[in-house]
Amino acid sequence: MTDPITRLIHHPYTPPEGFSAPQPGVFKASTVIFPNVAAMRARDWRDKSGYTYGLHGTPTTFVLEERVAALEGGLQCVLVPSGLAAIANVALALLKTGDEVLIPDNAYGPNKALAEGELAAFGITHQFYDPMDAADLAARIGGRTKLVWLEAAGSVTMEFPDLIAQVRLCRERGVVSALDNTWGAGLAFNPFDLGGSGIGVDVSVHALTKYPSGGGDVLMGSITMRDEALHLKIKLTHMRLGLGVGANDAEAVLRALPSIGLRYRAQDQAARMLARWCAAQPPFAQVLHPALPNGPGHAHWQQVCGAADARGDGAAAGLFSVVVDQRFSATQVDAFCDALQWFKLGYSWGGPMSLVVPYDLTSMRAGWPTHLQRGTLVRFSLGLEPVADLQADLAQALARAL
Ligand SMILES: *Cc1c(COP(=O)(O)O)cnc(C)c1O
Repeated sequence: MTDPITRLIHHPYTPPEGFSAPQPGVFKASTVIFPNVAAMRARDWRDKSGYTYGLHGTPTTFVLEERVAALEGGLQCVLVPSGLAAIANVALALLKTGDEVLIPDNAYGPNKALAEGELAAFGITHQFYDPMDAADLAARIGGRTKLVWLEAAGSVTMEFPDLIAQVRLCRERGVVSALDNTWGAGLAFNPFDLGGSGIGVDVSVHALTKYPSGGGDVLMGSITMRDEALHLKIKLTHMRLGLGVGANDAEAVLRALPSIGLRYRAQDQAARMLARWCAAQPPFAQVLHPALPNGPGHAHWQQVCGAADARGDGAAAGLFSVVVDQRFSATQVDAFCDALQWFKLGYSWGGPMSLVVPYDLTSMRAGWPTHLQRGTLVRFSLGLEPVADLQADLAQALARAL
């Protein structure tokens, strides 16, 4: 007589086929069961024809990969546990000792830190280039350059580079281009067909932590491409590093993904309204938002994101920075941030809650960028609160602190 516990674990019931609902099911597994040894030996983890082990994919992660690839205009997608893991996965797949990687000086900080830390320790060199000077990038691409990172708009200072020229340069020199597309989110522009030019990046990484999650409660990243050989290279490294994602996290992103267009557009509109309002406030010496006519790289933004903007779709992330005039001390700027009621102090963006972070740019850049006024930077990210309340919050904090 078999023990009831054994019968429970091996219960033969399978529910009927054909279940259909708005969201795909959550399949949770480390172990995947094979019907027989022949099937176990025949299955290949590299394509989506079957399942081998939870780390290499489940129906839930396959569905999310396909949807993110569609969002970004790519053909293949690999999911990783964070946006930073996506950056690391790409770097480790494409670089080896003796190679060099080029990173824009305004890149997401931890991308630069990875180059200065682990990559340097592995004998992989790096250079930081001026994202607003195509000649500077051209001059730095050499025989050892194997990967060029791009970011549009740049982190914190929000410069929109001449993406088309940068990608064209990488193509001419035979170097892989990888875009950190977290800001554009696959909505402001198509990274694989920039501004309808037919020119696109080789790889797009996306911190799904931001807009795709939309809740401030999930960490996940994606790597999207349109080339099978490149996909396989990245997927092999992904497999060897064990960078799979959990089914509950994938499910959270799948739930939020259908509303990404609505949220992105709303947060874009709110950010532009507040950025324009901030431009009229004397304590702010400069407002940094690429969609504003005097924003850094506005013409490049127009070239690549203008079509989405003309359609009335979201064409910019709900982010902008201000340079607080240098007559105010860093302590006064801290007091301004502390005085805000609805803007909470916190990193990341794309969630329901508006956030603020003061930045000391001198610790982040090689030198003070010439297109920036001197002062203390403050970055705002827009949540989903009605913009009138957010504007009133900025006004009261300005009145109290600056
Ligand atoms: C947040 C962010 C990342 C990293 O995402 P995590 O999921 O937090 O690791 C990478 N790039 C950019 C531009 C980001 O804003």
